[in-house]
Amino acid sequence: MRCVHLDFHTSEEIPGIGKDFDKDEFVRALKMAELDSISLFAKGHHGNFYYYSDKFRTHPGLVKPLLDLQVEACREAGVSAKIYISAGLDEYSAKEHPEWLVVGMDGQPQNMLHPHFHRLCFNTPYLDLLVAQTEEVTRRYMPDGLFFDIIAEPACTCRWCRADMEKKGLDYRKQEDVMVQARDVLHKFTDAITSAARAIKPDVYMFYNAGDFPVGRHDRIDVNDQLEAESLPTGGWGYDHFPMSMAYIRKLGKNCIGMTGKFHKSWGEFGGFKYKDALLYEAAQCLAFDAGVNVGDQLHPTGRVDTYTYENIGNAMRYVKEREPWRGGEYLPEIAVLSGGPRTPLGRTGVSRMLFEAKYQFDIIEPAEISEKYPLIILADGDTELSEDTYAALRAYVDKGGKILACNKAPLLYGKVAFRLGAEYVGEDGVLPTYLQAKYPLAAADGMALAIYAPTAVCRANGEILADKVEPYFKREGTHFCSHNNTPCDYDKRSVGITEGPEGIYVAADLFQDYATVGSLNSKQLILPLLEKLLGGKKTVKTNLPTSGKTALYRKDGKYLLHLLYANTVKRGDGVEIIEDLVTLCDIKVSLDLPTPVTAATLRPSGKEIPLTVEDGRVTFTLDRLRCSEIVELK
Ligand SMILES: [Zn+2]
Repeated sequence: MRCVHLDFHTSEEIPGIGKDFDKDEFVRALKMAELDSISLFAKGHHGNFYYYSDKFRTHPGLVKPLLDLQVEACREAGVSAKIYISAGLDEYSAKEHPEWLVVGMDGQPQNMLHPHFHRLCFNTPYLDLLVAQTEEVTRRYMPDGLFFDIIAEPACTCRWCRADMEKKGLDYRKQEDVMVQARDVLHKFTDAITSAARAIKPDVYMFYNAGDFPVGRHDRIDVNDQLEAESLPTGGWGYDHFPMSMAYIRKLGKNCIGMTGKFHKSWGEFGGFKYKDALLYEAAQCLAFDAGVNVGDQLHPTGRVDTYTYENIGNAMRYVKEREPWRGGEYLPEIAVLSGGPRTPLGRTGVSRMLFEAKYQFDIIEPAEISEKYPLIILADGDTELSEDTYAALRAYVDKGGKILACNKAPLLYGKVAFRLGAEYVGEDGVLPTYLQAKYPLAAADGMALAIYAPTAVCRANGEILADKVEPYFKREGTHFCSHNNTPCDYDKRSVGITEGPEGIYVAADLFQDYATVGSLNSKQLILPLLEKLLGGKKTVKTNLPTSGKTALYRKDGKYLLHLLYANTVKRGDGVEIIEDLVTLCDIKVSLDLPTPVTAATLRPSGKEIPLTVEDGRVTFTLDRLRCSEIVELK
């Protein structure tokens, strides 16, 4: 799917809304952008409607029935229209009914003098208004889909939520009780809205945007007919967030769409542009990770279309359209990263980066997805222990021969390492940073004591010691310090750093968290040989594609499809990561360990044949050049 999300959050202080909207120009833009779907606004965050409603507040500056004309244009252009209704934010309602606003745990009202939108509670009479708005919009446009925005579970202690909590025996002073109520309110909201829309158009597809899909929260995932993964790489999400989201959601049996933006940074940025090559790469990345592409834009209040935006989108969408026949298939993972539960995402972020950079094929899974189809499961969130249920599922997995790699507290059950990983947990080590010195060869800095900035555990070995922890001379605190940064290691003060037992490997340091926060290559150097060891030297994709390149391997219609991607992201300004140039790489060597033999490789969509050789069961070939992405079909 090739889509645009046409934001239109327009203040009532601006006049002449839609005055320059030209239906023919809009049809040309839709066609130029090669779209098959677009999200159009019935009501934005300001709470104003963009058609002449008898019941609800039409934007006071609206000069023509903008949404009616946009929907007509879509019909002419053969583009499916999804209608957007802002739900969690509606500034008009917030000002008219301040009693409907979310009240936080502190009981304080939101600051209405802050120039931004304010959050409404779905447990107030606002829900009745939203249901009536949904009914009017559905009846008026009979759209293919409805998009509801700002769907979260804010902690709320408004009078309706407090009354509910009292009935249920929940305590509004306790965070966990308030979150139980917040979840109930979210269910009440989605149930009411979906049934209102489906009563009028039974096949309308629903999407409730919450920005992310929390691992294991099927109550928040299953209410959607397709999953739009909002991830604007330059808007704070970064270039690795989207493929990481896909590593979880692509298995959930729904059509997935990657949602980026045309902005230099993020939503609401008038006059900000993402230039051609960056958008091309982001679209190619969506395709490589088996998702449709949605580009966020914001319409000017006059309704005038930015032609540069639609040229750029068209350039990216044509690239995707030519390659859509080779999208997706059965993804072939060799590693699973276990996530979910009350965990911070730092470990998951760090391990995902390492695995993408090393070109491993992996899934992010929740406990219910633990399966022996994965030869290796990584427990990367080293700050949280296991639950009993997760332990039971992992115990069954290792009993069938599966291997575990776990760091710090991740493999603990009631304070003890729950698997035979060669270590006994003693407690937290309060000294930061510390050092690890591997006894196995490293690709770089071999034999060195490597600084680790993330928390570590104190442990004893009951298996093979693969790395020592080398302690600093003393903890840097108070008047005790040495030099500008870390206290140096004392080579005579050694304890246990990394161990191996029959069920896998234990790493006493949160190396994945270290990688996510500090980006230290030390952590990656230490981890990659451990993955090789646990996978018995097997690796599906080997390539000299640089670390910022990505790969994804699928089986489809009896063939294999390997997607290769590369772009160099650079830092410009303060914390802004962009792509300015797509660099052409030469002589990309690829070696694959595939489940079944293949005899021919073809580049898609060009049809160019590539010579193959087979050595020790691995298929190898070389791509002369790669710019942005390549798809290699093997049969
Ligand atoms: Zn409330």
